[in-house]
Amino acid sequence: MYVTFIKISDLEKHYASAMALRGVNLEIAAQEWVSIVGASGSGKSTLLNIVGGLDVPSKGCVRMNGTDLCGLSEDALARFRRQNIGYIFQQSHLVPYLSATENVMLAQYFHSLPDEKEAEEALVRVGLGHRLHHRPSQLSGGEQQRVCIARALINSPKLLLADEPTGNLDRENTRVVLELLKKIHEAEHFTIILVTHDPFVADWASRLVKMEDGRVVSDTRNR
Ligand code: ADP
Ligand code: MG
Repeated sequence: MYVTFIKISDLEKHYASAMALRGVNLEIAAQEWVSIVGASGSGKSTLLNIVGGLDVPSKGCVRMNGTDLCGLSEDALARFRRQNIGYIFQQSHLVPYLSATENVMLAQYFHSLPDEKEAEEALVRVGLGHRLHHRPSQLSGGEQQRVCIARALINSPKLLLADEPTGNLDRENTRVVLELLKKIHEAEHFTIILVTHDPFVADWASRLVKMEDGRVVSDTRNR
């Protein structure tokens, strides 16, 4: 059964020097895995940031799970983000002086309560049981992104947003990260929106949305 989870309507984002989004309409179902592809500058990150409540549109709106994000105050939006959305970026944004476990616990702290055992289990699940007490600088790029997956998913978000999550990784580490995401996605059924310019990465999704110059120019099932 198709259940609309996110509805993006007539979304525009204007900057003094650029029109980043020129009227984007998209509906995304619960549990879907959508790749957003397109050339650099086509508006992918702008779209993702607005859907994630990290940026506001100039026009149009985003409804998620029945909530109109544009209608929320700044505080309510921050609360909504914490309760519903996990993020992974190209840069890991891990805190350098905290261990892998502590980095995950920090996300628990901002959500509700830190729980060391639960944080460790999340790291075991991404294959980092032997790296619990390592700091980010003692981890490889691929391992750091796996900590980020654990951190993004620790509070069981309904939506995972990923912007070029494997952009700094080689092919082998990219595959490891995507296989992990696939395994966890199959078990936990959250929705994934993943921005990438890499066709190998895009292909893991069940749907491909292509952007060009601030617009959606194609939207196809993948498999
Ligand atoms: P992509 O992620 O597809 O590379 P972006 O969403 O980052 O594209 O950018 C889309 C367009 O909006 C680009 O022309 C970019 O230069 C412009 N843009 C993005 N963010 C800003 C900003 N904060 N100020 C001005 N222009 C911006
Ligand atoms: Mg981008």
